[in-house]
Amino acid sequence: MIKITLPDGAVKKVPEGTTPIDIAKSISEGLARNVISAQFNNTVVETVTPLTEDGTLTLYTWNDTEGKKAFWHSTSHVVAQALEELYPGIKLTIGPAIENGFYYDVDFGEHALSEKDFQKIEQKALEIARGKHDYNMRSVSKADALQYYKDQGNEYKIELIENLEDGTITFCDHSTFTDLCRGGHIPNTGIIKAIKILSVAGAYWRGNENNKQLTRVYGISFPKQKDLTEYLELLEEAKKRDHRKLGKELELFTFSQKVGQGLPLWLPKGAALRERLEQFLKKAQKKAGYEMVVTPHIGQKELYVTSGHYAKYGEDSFQPIRTPKEDEEFLLKPMNCPHHCEIYNSSPFSYKDLPKRYAEFGTVYRYEQSGELHGLTRVRGFTQDDAHIFCTTEQLNDEFKNVIDLTLYVLNSLGFNNFTAQVSVRDLNNPEKYIGNTDDWEKAEQAIINAAEEKGLNYVVESGEAAFYGPKLDFMVKDALGRNWQLGTIQVDYNLPKRFDLTYKGSDNELHRPVMIHRAPFGSMERFVALLLEHTGGNFPLWLIPIQAIILPVSEKHEKYAEKVLNSLENHEIRALIDKRNETVGKKIRETELKKIPFMLIVGEQEEASGTLSVRRHGGEDLGSLSIDAFSDLVTTEINSTLKSF
Ligand SMILES: [Zn+2]
Ligand SMILES: [Zn+2]
Repeated sequence: MIKITLPDGAVKKVPEGTTPIDIAKSISEGLARNVISAQFNNTVVETVTPLTEDGTLTLYTWNDTEGKKAFWHSTSHVVAQALEELYPGIKLTIGPAIENGFYYDVDFGEHALSEKDFQKIEQKALEIARGKHDYNMRSVSKADALQYYKDQGNEYKIELIENLEDGTITFCDHSTFTDLCRGGHIPNTGIIKAIKILSVAGAYWRGNENNKQLTRVYGISFPKQKDLTEYLELLEEAKKRDHRKLGKELELFTFSQKVGQGLPLWLPKGAALRERLEQFLKKAQKKAGYEMVVTPHIGQKELYVTSGHYAKYGEDSFQPIRTPKEDEEFLLKPMNCPHHCEIYNSSPFSYKDLPKRYAEFGTVYRYEQSGELHGLTRVRGFTQDDAHIFCTTEQLNDEFKNVIDLTLYVLNSLGFNNFTAQVSVRDLNNPEKYIGNTDDWEKAEQAIINAAEEKGLNYVVESGEAAFYGPKLDFMVKDALGRNWQLGTIQVDYNLPKRFDLTYKGSDNELHRPVMIHRAPFGSMERFVALLLEHTGGNFPLWLIPIQAIILPVSEKHEKYAEKVLNSLENHEIRALIDKRNETVGKKIRETELKKIPFMLIVGEQEEASGTLSVRRHGGEDLGSLSIDAFSDLVTTEINSTLKSF
């Protein structure tokens, strides 16, 4: 008999050779029907793998991430079989599950796969799935595995197998198809009820651009047709909210091949939006005791050697800029922190002067491979809403909590209510990834957990997610489509103060080392605006939106009155403009709806006579006739309901 421990702590004594699915059955038939994958002692196993020793067993259904992973990976085998049947002679490489679905990288030889082929592949794959084939894992010797793929002439699989150790190699069979695979499958192909091929893209073998370019086939599958329909609707909505598309429509930003890829250009409306975000944060920061500083965009290479950034990123980033005569080397600033450390170092401080809180909207530059660039979310130059707090160890806890308060204020003012906090700590198995001593790391990690506890944050601890110089607290936001984004971050750092030899005079008259907090509630202006666009679909909070109201004169006759209205709205600090085009009011209303301007103010004969506005809200609600003062009060009240003072 062996002892199997379940996640709830329950222990089952079962005969050796019992499988995960047997154990599910012993709990309930319903569970057994829904279990699609399993983990035993933290290793992925098949649901039919005989268990031969004591251990911990976790059973997964479609509702678990691990369950979905097994489902999608299993589907990739079926799709690979369909591809082989449809395009004989192709060479399969790897086919993992990803966050949403799976892909398979394939060498199609001469055939160029396109969207026209998708339906055919889906039909073939579904036909195979309906055969309810079991997935059977078997061990093969290295020699046999190599021979199998030599016979097929598949040099990719041969390369994979050559890097594996004899005795650890397994194949997975289903139907007439065999693939090199480590395992982790659903019980049989029959539970795959819907398959969609989503897209194809080029992908270099092993991600190396010197290798051959393969075709990456992306797909997704579901246990119910209804789930696929819902997923496709969500995808459609996500496309509409793509920040690159909305950024163009709303005239916020652009890119120019001449300027260079990954370097956003902010258009007037976008720049004004950024300015409002900056003013909003500056105002709150001022109340929280921050001081603004300004530092240059480049710094001597030595600065980043001291900070440790050069050792970590130097080779893989923008290369040094050289002066023509003295051969000095400068780097584009990848981080603001080293500059702020030198500001701290410019004058002596006593414990009474601390904390010092230096803030800067600092633009930094990081090299990202061109394939990684994406709209405003992955760029090569971006502006952080950065600040560094230098404080004593005794002040650390309070300071950290103050930063949490500020971050929550920022998120709430912008309508993000659905967020989680993640405490990112070291990976204890890979200490070489981090700089600094263990003692400081432990103190810093504990300080973050304490602050998160005291603030009652709903947080998770993730090991291996820390920065190389310290642990951090990250705020993760779910957008309107349920996608996770990482936003603001707060980090504790004992390391840079040492590297820059930062000190303060304590009450004992001795020199002590301050602790440093790095923080950026938005993360970066670029990323934040991208998320805001995708989260709101362009319907920004009223206080932030570029144009709050548009005045629509019924005819040319009323333009003078429209000008008067605009003037007095400007005096009330309402951002408005007049649509003077020679179009009907009906057409103007329809077009304004698309521009997501919150209020339409229609002015004609009657309005002019009574000195009023006919107010219509974005979305169609008619607010009737209002005086300019009444409209201004309405705007102020709505702004104050989301934008509280800090
Ligand atoms: Zn597999
Ligand atoms: Zn920093």
